[in-house]
Amino acid sequence: MKEPSESHERNMDDSTAYATVKIPARLASLIDEYLRTDDAAIRGHRSRSSVVVDALIEFMESHGYLQRRRYTHINTYDDFALIRDHQLNTTACIRFSLPDKAYCELCETWNICDHVRYALEQEKIRKPLASAGFRIS
Ligand SMILES: [Zn+2]
Repeated sequence: MKEPSESHERNMDDSTAYATVKIPARLASLIDEYLRTDDAAIRGHRSRSSVVVDALIEFMESHGYLQRRRYTHINTYDDFALIRDHQLNTTACIRFSLPDKAYCELCETWNICDHVRYALEQEKIRKPLASAGFRIS
């Protein structure tokens, strides 16, 4: 297995090309069952595809075919975002405060930790923040 890394250069979420894979209907039903749980909402899973992609990434990382991610973006809300820290095996809640403050509840720091840095690099977080008038440096 390859060494875990803080790099997230190979972010699968950014892929724009897709391939279709068939899975057993029974497995799809189990995914649907999971998608109706609070667990799925907390993890940001809203579709079969998001569950399957996450599971595949985990598999490829654990078998050394994909560089292990340190962080993943779980979800973005009006004034906060959730970032999964795979190394610490926990989730960081990043709270945003206009005009340009971001607070990491995990590290209890403003604007300086890697969770905030990672969050502000994500287009899915930057866009809504910019629309709300947040100044990203
Ligand atoms: Zn932090």
